[in-house]
Amino acid sequence: KSEVFTFGETMVLFQPEQMLPLEYIHQFPKKIGGAESNVAIGLTRLGHSVTWFSKLGNDPFGRFVLKSIRGEGVDVSTCLLTDEAPTGLLFKEQLSPEDMNVYYYRKGSAASLMQPEELDAGAIAAARILHISGITPALSESALATVMEAIDIAKRNGTTIVFDPNLRLKLWSAEQAKKTFNEIAASADVILPGLDEGQLMTGETDVEAVAQALADGDNEKIIVIKLGDKGAYLHAGEQKTYIEGFPVDRIVDPVGAGDGFAAGVISGLLREEPLEQAVRRANAIGAMVVGVSGDIEGLPTFEAVERFMKPAGANRD
Ligand code: ATP
Repeated sequence: KSEVFTFGETMVLFQPEQMLPLEYIHQFPKKIGGAESNVAIGLTRLGHSVTWFSKLGNDPFGRFVLKSIRGEGVDVSTCLLTDEAPTGLLFKEQLSPEDMNVYYYRKGSAASLMQPEELDAGAIAAARILHISGITPALSESALATVMEAIDIAKRNGTTIVFDPNLRLKLWSAEQAKKTFNEIAASADVILPGLDEGQLMTGETDVEAVAQALADGDNEKIIVIKLGDKGAYLHAGEQKTYIEGFPVDRIVDPVGAGDGFAAGVISGLLREEPLEQAVRRANAIGAMVVGVSGDIEGLPTFEAVERFMKPAGANRD
C-alpha cells in the first residue's frame, strides 16, 4: 500500500513551443496535465510511494496518460479505462511570459464520470495521507460525491487529509467554489490555499486574518498560505510565521509551482519534519518548478532540493 492516495483528472496537454495565438500554432508537443498527478509525481521523485486514481477514456490518449504516470513510478493499478467517454484534453496558449491561457476539452470526460464506489477504500484507509484538490469536485456531481466519500473513508481510518483548493474559474463560479471549498476545508487537517483562494473562502483580506479564519479555532489544523515569490505563511496552533521564498533568476513557467509546493509539504509531514522545515522545502520546490518549462519537468529529487536549499557557495566542492 502507498503512503499517499490522491485522485483527479489528468488530461493530455498540448503545449506549443512558441508564444503565439493558438490560431497560428501548427505543432503541439503532447504532454500530460493534471494537478493531482503532478503532486503524485512530485512525491515519488522525493522518494515516497503514491497511488493516483482516475477514470480515463479507453482510447490512445487515456493509455498515454496512464503510461506516463506509471512511468514516473506512481501506482495507477486502481485506475479505470472506460468506453463511456473520452479522455479530457487541454491546450495551453502562451502570449507572453506572464500571459498564459488554457482551453479545456474536458466536459463530459471519462474522469468526470468517476463514482464514489470506484474508489479503492482499502488504499485510502491504509495511506497516511489523502491529498484532495479543489478541481475534482468541480468536474461533476459524481466527482464531488467521490471527493466527499474519500474524505469520509479517510476520517473513519485516521488518514490525514491535505486540501489544496486549486480554484479553476473555467469549471465553476466563485460562489459554488467557495461553498464546496469550505465544506472540504472543515474536514481537512492541512489546507494549502493561495492568498486569493483563502480570501475567497473567508472573505478576509490580510494573510493572517485569512489563516485565522481558515483554522476556525482548531489548534490542530495546519494552514499554509502560498504567497508566490514571497514564500508562504504558516499557521498551526500557536505557530504563526512567514517563511521566506527562494529567489528565482528567471521565471520560465509559473504553472505547477503550487503542486510542487504541496508535494513538499506532504513530504515533510511524512518525514515528520518540523513544519517550518517542511514549508521551507515546499518553497524551494515551488521556486525550482517556476524556473523550468512544464508542470512536472522541474520537480526535484530529495537530494536536488537539499542542494538547492543550501546557501550560495555551499554546493562547491
Ligand atoms: P499554481 O500556479 O501552480 O497554481 P499557486 O498559485 O498555487 O501556483 P504560487 O503562490 O504561485 O501558488 O506558488 C507556490 C509556491 O511556489 C509559493 O508559495 C513559493 O514558495 C513558490 N514560488 C512561486 N512563484 C515563485 C517565484 N516567482 N519565486 C520564488 N518562489 C516562487
